[in-house]
Amino acid sequence: MAALRSETGQLELGGKDLASLAADETVGTPTYVYDLGAIAQGARALREAFEGAPHLVAYAVKANSAGPIVRALREAGCGADVVSGGELGLALACGVSPEEILFSGVAKLDREIDAAVAAGPLGIGAIQVESIEELPRVAARARVAGRRARISLRLNPAASLESLSTHSHIATGHDDAKFGIPKDDLPAALAVVASFPELALTGLSSHIGSQFTSTNAYVDAARTLFELVAALRPSHGKDLRFVDSGGGFGVDYGDGCPVAPSDFVRQVRAVQRSLRLDDLALYVEPGRALVAPHGVLLASVIQHKLTPQGSIVAARQRWLMIDAGMNDLLRPALYQARHRIVSVRAEAEASQSVPWRVVGPVCESSDDFGVHELPLEPPRVVAVLDAGAYGYTMASRYNGRPMPAEVFVRDGQVVASRARDGESVWVADREAFPP
Ligand SMILES: *Cc1c(COP(=O)(O)O)cnc(C)c1O
Repeated sequence: MAALRSETGQLELGGKDLASLAADETVGTPTYVYDLGAIAQGARALREAFEGAPHLVAYAVKANSAGPIVRALREAGCGADVVSGGELGLALACGVSPEEILFSGVAKLDREIDAAVAAGPLGIGAIQVESIEELPRVAARARVAGRRARISLRLNPAASLESLSTHSHIATGHDDAKFGIPKDDLPAALAVVASFPELALTGLSSHIGSQFTSTNAYVDAARTLFELVAALRPSHGKDLRFVDSGGGFGVDYGDGCPVAPSDFVRQVRAVQRSLRLDDLALYVEPGRALVAPHGVLLASVIQHKLTPQGSIVAARQRWLMIDAGMNDLLRPALYQARHRIVSVRAEAEASQSVPWRVVGPVCESSDDFGVHELPLEPPRVVAVLDAGAYGYTMASRYNGRPMPAEVFVRDGQVVASRARDGESVWVADREAFPP
């Protein structure tokens, strides 16, 4: 939780008082607020864990693709891991060097591959190929462009490592199979790579899951990659420059997270050193860990409602209806994720608190943020904490609602913002879609 109480008990983020932001007519609610300074600071701390060894922190842009955030991370020395042509264009527009861009994804379009091959003097750092069948497609687009495409093979170690498939944070079986090349298919993939002079194999990658709160599975997968690279070098090694152990570093959503992002890096570096592969660069692809703790979603309480609770007629369920819903923050509805919700005001903190079931205005039962201890006298404005990742990027206009606003803070100053409505989808084509 990067939002803090000031000495007077008011909730602040990046030195900005959140109650006054919500009260500001030009801001209002629902609004995401982010601390750019803390985001950059977290990235620098992560980079320090490499202790000067060759590395790339490729920020997974899908976690939060707001321009000011991608730019702040680029200034802190990060590259980008992108999963669409749209994210690729955004990373380039934010000044990320093509060399420091990785492109992941299981179903890249030809025109997306073309954009990756065409970027900069040599194309992007690596197109991360996720299936054997994708290899001839990338080779064909490189041939058309008259270029050599730098690629990495994204391996799926879970397909071969029993220990990984038991980890609760690994996605279910069919999801796992969608991503990456099964480790046992590596020899076949290498044979295909060797048959295309347009392909330069520059790395091996994996990304085994998300929100890891221990390092074990991640470090095991990284070890597998390093061992494979060591075995490959004599025969295929001339272009091999990096191992990319992926993202997935956990954050503390309130239940604790005993490991910091730098712990993942330090432990993988130890494996790399023990295998004497220090000349290889180590790439990581964190998304959530760089941004989640440094964003909140501000919401106003619209009203409350008391209903009989179950069969106990005397007990009352307390519902608190806020103006942010699942269209603004989908994670609770999509993953049963829990975000802490607190009052932005100090007075409210001090008064007696009771369990409130906090829900949004969207007409879906899953538009439910769970039960939270909040003051008996409902607060006017609440902050949904740790909402900097997979919040705005998953937001939608469902129920005819506007996209939420965004405010970017640095050292107590608002340095950028995005209006609530954004561009109306109707404006461009009024004739075809009359209001
Ligand atoms: C989503 C994703 C990431 C980032 O995952 P986090 O859990 O946000 O760190 C990294 N790499 C790839 C390929 C991804 O799809």
